Amino acid sequence: MGDNPFRNLPAVNDILDSDSGLELLQEHPRKMVVDGVRLVLDGLRQEIRKGQTPIEEVSIELVSQRVNTHLQRLRAPLIRPVINATGIVLHTNLGRAPMAPAAAEAAGRASGGYLNLELDLETGKRSSRQYPIKTWIQRLTGAEAATVVNNNAAATIIALRAICHGKEVILSRGQLIEIGGSFRIPEIMSVSGAILKEIGTTNITRIRDYEQAITDNTGALLQIHTSNFRVRGFTKSASLEELVALGKKHNIPVIDDAGSGAFVDFNQFGLEGEPVIGKSLEAGVDLVLFSGDKLLGGPQAGILAGKKQWIDKIEKDPLMRAFRLDKMTLAALEATLQFYCDEAIALENIPILRMLRLTTEELRERALNFAKAVEDFEELASTELIDTVAYVGGGSLPDQALPTVVVAIQPKHNGVESLAKRLRLGTPAVMARIQNDALLFDLRTVFPEQEAFLLQALRNALKNTNC
Ligand SMILES: *Cc1c(COP(=O)(O)O)cnc(C)c1O
Repeated sequence: MGDNPFRNLPAVNDILDSDSGLELLQEHPRKMVVDGVRLVLDGLRQEIRKGQTPIEEVSIELVSQRVNTHLQRLRAPLIRPVINATGIVLHTNLGRAPMAPAAAEAAGRASGGYLNLELDLETGKRSSRQYPIKTWIQRLTGAEAATVVNNNAAATIIALRAICHGKEVILSRGQLIEIGGSFRIPEIMSVSGAILKEIGTTNITRIRDYEQAITDNTGALLQIHTSNFRVRGFTKSASLEELVALGKKHNIPVIDDAGSGAFVDFNQFGLEGEPVIGKSLEAGVDLVLFSGDKLLGGPQAGILAGKKQWIDKIEKDPLMRAFRLDKMTLAALEATLQFYCDEAIALENIPILRMLRLTTEELRERALNFAKAVEDFEELASTELIDTVAYVGGGSLPDQALPTVVVAIQPKHNGVESLAKRLRLGTPAVMARIQNDALLFDLRTVFPEQEAFLLQALRNALKNTNC
């Protein structure tokens, strides 16, 4: 026994019976505490063996403290709020569009109690869960009919499957896209059972290319908005109006995958190239598809609007059940759509629409205040304001650089990568942009009420260098 280096390590039971052990047991489930104590003791044995921790330093309190830290980490939620200081309004990794408080509250109310999800309160009979969204979309866009599924990827699959199964779908090679996350049109086409008929070239596709490709087995003319890239220079594509006229002539439906779901005209803010959903329907397409959580500013959803004959067909498809939305999302989407009764109300209340309209003057003022607040942080080597640009992100407006003003900081010690990591791991977590060995804070995507927390998070991250 004399040469057992671990003989002074406290026993599991002694730890559990100690004051600090009892505190642990009040905080955490017994089994987790016991497992945690064993894990920490194992770790300590290794540290002692390697000479990293002298055995004299090991006390019951030290073990309990480590167990507590370990269990707090283990039990913390893995999904956490993040302050988005990147300036990227639709940051896919940060959940795309943040919803309006009213939409988030509607989701909360819908999830915490019962609701008329599939009940007609008037008749007391069963109704469809898509009905409220259908009603709002019809009112807002003038569409004859509408329905909704989990996201626009699902909307594309179900539309192609219900309308074009076994038939050819004509698509320009210039629109043969990948959206990201393995959403590639040729694969979506084969999953849906439709047959892709590519026409034209990457840069030029004319309306006569469509006409020449039409056969008895053509199921649809498909237009896909090139959301995340642009082809520039010597280019030509058919307009929606031309496609609609051609579709009418041959009695073939025209499907428009519009992508972002803009309900207001972004040209008025100097953001060009986003199709407005209402205009697509006015042009006479049979079906337009779009996301709920891009420029619409709501929850993740895929909305299909257009002619009743096609919506009916889609709703009868067995995938409708697999792709259907849950009650929280439906409630949040309805609350978002309600704002669009009036464009001014939408612009005021939908967070991303407010963020996109912030001027460089407003951003400069906020950046200046932020820079002043960090001026006396002695761990910073430099702080400066930089005029630069940010992108909207999330597969929208790919070539529209938004002018912005950022606060660029450089820490004295440990480098920006390390600081960025400490900010990500802090509470609240913060995401900033790294550029030219500086950390950039773009306040466009930081809610004004988050600024104080952002400052505190930065202060903590600069102080806490041991992670
Ligand atoms: C984003 C996008 C999709 C995919 O939409 P999700 O809602 O993310 O599934 C499909 N088509 C286009 C043109 C898009 O921009």
